[in-house]
Amino acid sequence: MNTYFNYETLKFILHDVHRMNDILKGDRFKDIDSDMINILLDGVKDYCDKELFPIFREMDEKPAYYEDGKIHVHPKVGEVMTDFGEMGLIGGHFDEEFGGMQLPHSVINAAYTIVSTANNNMSGYPGLTTGSASLITTFGSQELKDTYVEKMLTGQWAGTMCLTEPQAGSSLSDITSSASANEDGSYNVKGQKIFISGGDHEFTENFIHLFLARIDGAPAGTKGISLFVVPKMKINEDGSLTPNNVKTIADFQKMGQRGYCTTHLAFGEDGTTQGWLVGEENRGLKYMFQMMNEARISVGRDATAVSIAAYHASLQYANERTQGRKLKKSGKKDASNDPVKIIEHADVRRMLLFQKAVSEGALALIHEASSIHDRGYQAEGDEKKNLHLLLELITPIAKTYPSEKGKEAVDNGLQILGGYGFCTDFILQQYLRDVRIMSIYEGTTGIQSLDLLGRKIPMDGGKAVQLLVAEFQKEMTRAKAHENLAPYADKLAGGMKTIEGVLGKISGHAMQGEFEKYLADATPFMQIFSTVVIAWQWLKMANTAQEALSSGELTYSKEFYESKIHTMKFFYKYELSKIEGIANIFNDDKFLTLQLENELII
Ligand SMILES: Cc1cc2nc3c(=O)[nH]c(=O)nc-3n(C[C@H](O)[C@H](O)[C@H](O)COP(=O)(O)OP(=O)(O)OC[C@H]3O[C@@H](n4cnc5c(N)ncnc54)[C@H](O)[C@@H]3O)c2cc1C
Repeated sequence: MNTYFNYETLKFILHDVHRMNDILKGDRFKDIDSDMINILLDGVKDYCDKELFPIFREMDEKPAYYEDGKIHVHPKVGEVMTDFGEMGLIGGHFDEEFGGMQLPHSVINAAYTIVSTANNNMSGYPGLTTGSASLITTFGSQELKDTYVEKMLTGQWAGTMCLTEPQAGSSLSDITSSASANEDGSYNVKGQKIFISGGDHEFTENFIHLFLARIDGAPAGTKGISLFVVPKMKINEDGSLTPNNVKTIADFQKMGQRGYCTTHLAFGEDGTTQGWLVGEENRGLKYMFQMMNEARISVGRDATAVSIAAYHASLQYANERTQGRKLKKSGKKDASNDPVKIIEHADVRRMLLFQKAVSEGALALIHEASSIHDRGYQAEGDEKKNLHLLLELITPIAKTYPSEKGKEAVDNGLQILGGYGFCTDFILQQYLRDVRIMSIYEGTTGIQSLDLLGRKIPMDGGKAVQLLVAEFQKEMTRAKAHENLAPYADKLAGGMKTIEGVLGKISGHAMQGEFEKYLADATPFMQIFSTVVIAWQWLKMANTAQEALSSGELTYSKEFYESKIHTMKFFYKYELSKIEGIANIFNDDKFLTLQLENELII
């Protein structure tokens, strides 16, 4: 069978780089140890090898579709929901009172990394169910918890997030779906939601929609949005189910993730649809941000997973395909020599190392985010607040870097296959189509970049950035203890200086109230900032690898650790160096994207 990920790298990042054992010291995880975690992950890998990877191409070739008012998906989708429920992959990190196992988020994230490398069509169905059940447990009434959570965590019922409307995508303040209060405490909801992932199909008996709407008379803008639970099937007192007039009126046929259905739902048309308020009125968007932030990290993880799977497919090809000959010292080719495997060519190695540097760097960042989440969950006082700030800062980067660079990485993977990469007989074209959505949903790259520069950098007087810099310093100090790594500590310091320089140039605009100018190049700023963040993660991996090599306490082969250090060097040489060029954008004070009449874009 083809290899779609490197299990050792995942375990290295989970256990060694991000020190799972430190997380497990907390009281919440007292019944969990690393052996249990490895057994769970072994089980997930086995399931993915046998059940999910073999149908990955089939789900693309026979996509989900809409016919006669119904969405048809691959039959495995229903099984995955219940199998994942049994394996603890939907509710594994929930409190025991909800039937959860109180597993660290990092473990669930590692499990889903395996799932998404095997078949990225599948992870969203259970993943959104987890996120919506979590919204109910955090903000919902006891009645909502008792009614919905258990059946969602077992996979019997699915959850969705219903935000987007035809006129309200990036700008959720423009939502017009409505809710009118009934005397019994429920609401009649009305409106259309588009692009709803996993919104309906025949293999799950109920869909629990977490639905944003305005209660009659609510204030305009984001301050007037409330959150509702709107089930496809209402639950009667005896537990039987009655349709709630949620109609699936269409689906969206897509270029990628074609096995993951995307639906158009109508609520409250030709009859009433009942919903139940979650938490307080008009605080819905604030609540929904819990799910959106979790989903942003999940999207980053899935983008990472697709890049990893593409890397392994192109690596395998590069080790099999023979083409061309090595140059002799004279610079000439010797036609009498046998052709070589293409992995022998420097340019092919450059593309492979680029894929590895991007995808493993992104994987380390995704797990950094989970680790901060797990530590923050157990911390108290200032430490809790600081970890929360750090996670807030990292979230848009963890979503954007893997999505944007993932596209480039997969594209390089396709290039390694030459003409075959362009052909449907080979898997790379599917990965390239699949990865394309990641920089769009859960907030586009443009929106994430505005969030980073406009909200997260200035947050709390720049405190989050200070905390991140302190984390960088820790790795720089570690690196300085090793002769081969010390120069990279200086390079990371150089990256920090570049960021500082850019912020120094643009912050004046913000201080003068010229926010359009301050934010005009938020996306190039994201490119610089996220590259430095990944450089930090690579230094962390290289430090961990070097410390293992120096101590002689090796869990994996010597080559495994050396390959991590080598890839770190590649990242610094080929990727970190690019930020200087991008920073030059900020040296030019002509605002070409602002000082322009629309008529000039012709
Ligand atoms: C396959 C798929 C699955 C999805 N799943 C879900 C789901 O389950 N639930 C759900 O609620 N939604 C879902 N969505 C919706 C998704 O979140 C939106 O498509 C996305 O947020 C962008 O909104 P939009 O498509 O309306 O684009 P628009 O908001 O119209 O944006 C178009 C372009 O303009 C840019 N832009 C917009 N506003 C600004 C601004 N203020 N400043 C700078 N640039 C800006 C954007 O970056 C983008 O490049 C899904 C979408 C897709 C395609």
